[in-house]
Amino acid sequence: MRPADAGREVTVCGWVDSARDHGGLLFVDLRDRSGIVQVTIDPGRSPDVWSGARHWRGEWTVGVRGRVGLRAAGNENPRLPTGEVEIVPAQVEVFGKARPLPFQPGDASVEETTRLRYRYLDLRRPALQDNLRLRHRLIAAVRATCDGEGFVEIETPTLTRSTPEGARDYLVPARTAPGSFYALPQSPQLFKQLLMIGGLERYYQIARCWRDEDLRADRQPEFTQLDVEMSFIGPEDVMGLGERVVRAALAAAAGIDLGGPLPRLPYAEALARYGSDKPDLRVPLEIADLTEAFAATAFEGFGAALRSGGVLRALRVPGGAALARRELDALTADARGRGAGGLAWFLYGGEGDLRGGGPPCRSPIAKFLSPDELRAIAAAGRPAPVEAGDAVLAVADRPEVAAPVMGWLRLWAADRFRLREPGAVWRAAWVTDFPLLEWNGEERRFVAVHHPFTAPHPDDLALLASGPGHVRALAYDLVLNGTEVGGGSIRNHDADVQAAVFAALGLGPEEAREQFGFLLEALSYGAPPHGGIAFGLDRLAMLAAGADSIRDVIAFPKTARAADPMTGAPAPVAERQLRDLGLRVVPPVR
Ligand code: ASP
Repeated sequence: MRPADAGREVTVCGWVDSARDHGGLLFVDLRDRSGIVQVTIDPGRSPDVWSGARHWRGEWTVGVRGRVGLRAAGNENPRLPTGEVEIVPAQVEVFGKARPLPFQPGDASVEETTRLRYRYLDLRRPALQDNLRLRHRLIAAVRATCDGEGFVEIETPTLTRSTPEGARDYLVPARTAPGSFYALPQSPQLFKQLLMIGGLERYYQIARCWRDEDLRADRQPEFTQLDVEMSFIGPEDVMGLGERVVRAALAAAAGIDLGGPLPRLPYAEALARYGSDKPDLRVPLEIADLTEAFAATAFEGFGAALRSGGVLRALRVPGGAALARRELDALTADARGRGAGGLAWFLYGGEGDLRGGGPPCRSPIAKFLSPDELRAIAAAGRPAPVEAGDAVLAVADRPEVAAPVMGWLRLWAADRFRLREPGAVWRAAWVTDFPLLEWNGEERRFVAVHHPFTAPHPDDLALLASGPGHVRALAYDLVLNGTEVGGGSIRNHDADVQAAVFAALGLGPEEAREQFGFLLEALSYGAPPHGGIAFGLDRLAMLAAGADSIRDVIAFPKTARAADPMTGAPAPVAERQLRDLGLRVVPPVR
C-alpha cells in the first residue's frame, strides 16, 4: 500500500505487531508476510470498530476492512515503506487470540533452544522468512537451469541400503525382516549411477540426505543436496554444468555475481599455495616454498626437517612487524599444537640484519642464516614483495604438517590484520585432481577420499596396485569463499576398474560382491561413462543469505545434539512398536 492507493477499499489480514492507544486514537501495526501497515481507529468516528479493537494484543490474528488514507502531515513514518498511508477500518474481526508469548518474535537474543522449541514463533521473524524465500529462489533457479539443459528430476528411495559416503548411517528397523535394517541414504550416489545405466543420461534431484555425524555450525543430521549425474561426459562437462547452475542459483537468490570463469586449482597446488583444499581466495596472500633455497642450509632448525624429506614454507604477513613478542610466542605454541616442530618469524623494518638485501630484518634466527637464505626469506612475499612493516612466518616440516599449518596461519593473518577483500566479495574456484585414496592409520588401510565409486585418473591406473596413495582421482570440488559447497567425480563405469578400486580399499571380491554386487552386476550390462556432482543447498543458501549457521536457512532444523525441541524428537516409542520390530532396548553402556 502506497499513497497511490489512497481511497481504495481493502481487506487486510495478519498479526498485530503492536497496538498503541494514543489519547483515544488507537494505532495498530498489522503485519503479514509482505510487511507492516498502520491501522488507525478513532473512537469518536467509529465507536463499534474501536470497541472491537481496543483489547487487541500483540500477535493476535485479526482482519480489518476499510479504506486506505493518507496520513496527516507530520505523522508519516519514513522508516516504513507504507509509512505515508494508514487504513481506516469500517469493520474489524479477531481470528485468533494469543497468550503471552515465551519471547517476542523479533528478539533474536533469546537462547536458540527456546527459539527452536517455538520455531513457529521464531519463523514470524522477517529475517528468517527472508532466508526461506531466498532459499526458495535458489532452488527455483536450480530447477529452471537443470530443466533448461534437459535434465530430468527423479526421486530416489529413502529407505535403502547403506551408501558409503564415509559417515555413520541412520538406520530404520524393518518390521518385515526382524533384525534387518534400512539405511537412510547419505546421498543418492548409487541410485543416480543406476539411473545412468538405465539410460536416463541427465538426472538431477533436490535430495534429502542423512549422515549421523557430530554436528557443527554448518552441519545437520539431515540436509539437502542438489544432486546431479550425467552420461557420456568428462570432468569439464560436469564442472561446466555445475558452474552454470550455481551461478544462476546465487544470482537469483541474492544477486550474487561470481565473476569471470572460475579458476581451476589442482589439489597439490591448492595445498602448496594456500595450505588448504578449500582456500579462501578473498585473502590475497600465498604461501611460498623455500625448500630448494635452503637445501644446503647450515641452520639445523630447518636442516633436520629438510633432510628427512620436509619442506620449508613461508608466508608474508603485511603489517606483521607490529606483532608483539608475546603474540609471536602464542602463535608458535598454537603452531606446535597443530603438529609443527616450531615457527620461525622475521620482522622487517626499523633496525636489523641487512644482509638479505631487503628492509632490515629482525629474527632470533637471522644470525644463523646465510645472506642468500635471508634473501630467499625476504623474497617470499606472494603476490607482493616484502616491505618494511611486514613479517614472514615460516615452518619447516613434513608437507602434510607444513601445508595445513601454513593454511591456518594464512587465515589467522587475514583475521588479525583484516586482509580479506572487504565487502560482499565472492571468490570461487574448482579444486581438481584430488588423491583417490588416503591412508587411514587407525583402520590400517586405504580409504576413499571422495567415495569408492570415483574413477582413478587414467594416467595413474597402473599405480593402483603399486602405489595407491599416489593415484589421482577424476574428482573436483567447488569452493566458495573458503567453504566447500559441492563435490563430485567421474565414476568407474568399467566393472574391472571398479573391482580394482575395491581391491585397493582392501575389499576382497567376496566382500565387494556382498556389499555392492548389484552395482558390479549393473556395470556388466553396458554402462555409459558417467559422472556427477552434488552441491550442499543449505550451505549455498547460508552463504547467499550471509547467515552464520545453516539452521538459519532451514525451516525446522535440529540442535547440535540432533534433537528437535519442538516435537521432542527423538523420543521413546511404545513397547508394542518395539515388539513389532523385534527390538529390545538395552541401556547404553557407559
Ligand atoms: N555423492 C557425492 C556426495 O554426496 C557427490 C557425488 O559424487 O556426486 O558427496
